[in-house]
Amino acid sequence: MTSPAPLVDQFARRISYLRLSVTDRCDLRCAYCMPERMTFLPRKEVLSLEELHDMALGFIARGITKIRLTGGEPLVRRDMMELVAALGRKVGDGLEELTMTTNATRLAEFADGIAAAGVKRINVSLDTLDRERFARLARRDSLPQVLEGLQAAKEAGLSVKINTVALKGINEDEITDLIAWAHGQGFDATLIEVMPLGDVEEDRFDHYLPLAEVRDTLELRWTLTPSDHRTGGPARYFDVAETGGRLGLITPLTNNFCDGCNRIRVTATGQLYACLGGNERVDLRAAMRSPDPQAALDEALDVAMKIKPARHHFAIDKRGAAPALARHMSMTGG
Ligand code: SAM
Ligand code: SF4
Repeated sequence: MTSPAPLVDQFARRISYLRLSVTDRCDLRCAYCMPERMTFLPRKEVLSLEELHDMALGFIARGITKIRLTGGEPLVRRDMMELVAALGRKVGDGLEELTMTTNATRLAEFADGIAAAGVKRINVSLDTLDRERFARLARRDSLPQVLEGLQAAKEAGLSVKINTVALKGINEDEITDLIAWAHGQGFDATLIEVMPLGDVEEDRFDHYLPLAEVRDTLELRWTLTPSDHRTGGPARYFDVAETGGRLGLITPLTNNFCDGCNRIRVTATGQLYACLGGNERVDLRAAMRSPDPQAALDEALDVAMKIKPARHHFAIDKRGAAPALARHMSMTGG
């Protein structure tokens, strides 16, 4: 039997990185991500643990070497640790790396299990260290749990990268301190520009803060040297001389990073989105629920390689209140 072909798209980009959303649900309601009264999907629409697992194995067979579990909040899914353990067993056996993006509210409970499963690095989203500000932005007073979770991750030996969305008028006055704190804890830090994904209750344009501006502010205080460090993602890294830490900048809006894209995303309902910023989609749930799931999955993945666009289409501006894309980040997975 010949081994299945690796995933290469029509622009000769080799796709090796899967971001897999395991739930659209979340215990926070970050204002830029979802509305307070978010409508979540009926559970039957979400892939079962077995479907997620079998689908992930199908991806690994096609040359996916890195899987990031995300959501919604992955750690609110009840059977999540079973999936982490099962996919952890593939690390070194097809999979090079298993990682997770979490808001860390439940990390105190799960950090040891995550590390034991073979996960080495996790991303934790944290936009402020001020408890009241956190409660306003995430609409839940959960900063103490997040900090406990981060401590547990450190004790479990996980490498942590803090992801912060830069928001004008919300956390811009705190970004330098947040990075200094992260580096002091031994964490990497990455800043992200807010992206126009899904309806929320406010206009994101009001809070859009170009990272070029943030960089100018940081350089008043620090020496940033461009670094060769790459994680196969869109971040560009800088070494910060004064803190001894590393800072990543993700600038989807001011800087297009699509040429080297190596990733695809699958929602909790099994919809493969070929690009975070586009609507090109293939239904993998239908494939997984068909009489011959592996053959149907392979066929669907071949289609995905044909429709992956050259670059994302979103831009942020004041024209019209509608978001550039109707779906929320919590659906496609950040
Ligand atoms: N709940 C987990 C968390 O917050 O880390 C994982 C999912 S969350 C959707 C993944 C990342 O997407 C987070 O870092 C979050 O800040 C980011 N995010 C959500 N909505 C965004 C938006 N509209 N623009 C930019 N980043 C966004
Ligand atoms: Fe939840 Fe993450 Fe979205 Fe915040 S960014 S509401 S933690 S999914």
